[in-house]
Amino acid sequence: MRIAIASGKGGTGKTTVAVSLALSVATREKVSLLDCDVEEPNAALFLHEQIGSADKHGFNPNADTAQVFVKVPKVDNDKCTKCGRCSSVCEFNAIALTKTGPMIFPELCHSCGGCALFCPTQAITEADRAVGKIHRFVHENLTFIEGLLNVGEAMSTPVICKVKKMVATDGLVIVDCPPGTACPMVAAVRDVDFAILVTEPTPFGLHDLTLAVETVRELSVPFGVIVNRADDAELCVREYCQKEKIPLLLEIPDSRAVAEGYSRGVPILASMPELAGAYEKMLVQIGVLAQAACCGGNQ
Ligand code: SF4
Ligand code: SF4
Repeated sequence: MRIAIASGKGGTGKTTVAVSLALSVATREKVSLLDCDVEEPNAALFLHEQIGSADKHGFNPNADTAQVFVKVPKVDNDKCTKCGRCSSVCEFNAIALTKTGPMIFPELCHSCGGCALFCPTQAITEADRAVGKIHRFVHENLTFIEGLLNVGEAMSTPVICKVKKMVATDGLVIVDCPPGTACPMVAAVRDVDFAILVTEPTPFGLHDLTLAVETVRELSVPFGVIVNRADDAELCVREYCQKEKIPLLLEIPDSRAVAEGYSRGVPILASMPELAGAYEKMLVQIGVLAQAACCGGNQ
């Protein structure tokens, strides 16, 4: 089973939930935690005990590291007739025809292969371009895989897709998604069995939750909501979930102990151990909801 932890905006506690859920499952069975927030991965900050720490250059001796490459076109000027077909075919303005021949903008290229396909003289071949890295750690029942987009790269989806491909087939998989509802979030959520949308009980939180709900509904992924830093005085998210018939999976109370732990890289379950039982119950509920969606359609 694959569970995505997503949110319509950053700062809701999505990573905190993903890490603590993975650690609670790892006490009894295999689990993979994927950090797909590749522009700013930070789940590792809460896993010192399991994976060790990186040095100031980002090197962690416990990691298996792999590069992520994408294909970009390469033009053989001897074969090129400067017909301009490649430039007109490209939907992403990644090739411009100049007096000296086609000029390629690799950062804009989506690796669709269209230009090579339509070049009448086969002047275009494809070359690898590194866009990011993957770090993989194994500690007892926990496999942790994080993707890191190279600085300056615009497209994170190739790195996210690579992280998801590296996961083992056995055990629960927890995907810490990029925040928001744009392409990176969609790439992380699209093929999971269930999505947990983490929000906070504020009008901003509710606004971005509604966007995330629209997105997962569009993707036909069953989902439920966790309210982080829950406050009994602020009922807007509860009322919204009730009105939309969205399962409210868990409310994590606003707690100074959790905030202090967070600032030191302590997972939420260490600061609030009483949540372990609530996570157990939530996983059972998610199994039932995912099964129901699978058999009878989505929310
Ligand atoms: S389509 Fe091929 S031949 Fe035409 S400009 Fe592009 S590379 Fe050159
Ligand atoms: S591979 Fe696709 S996106 Fe990249 S330059 Fe060619 S046509 Fe454009």
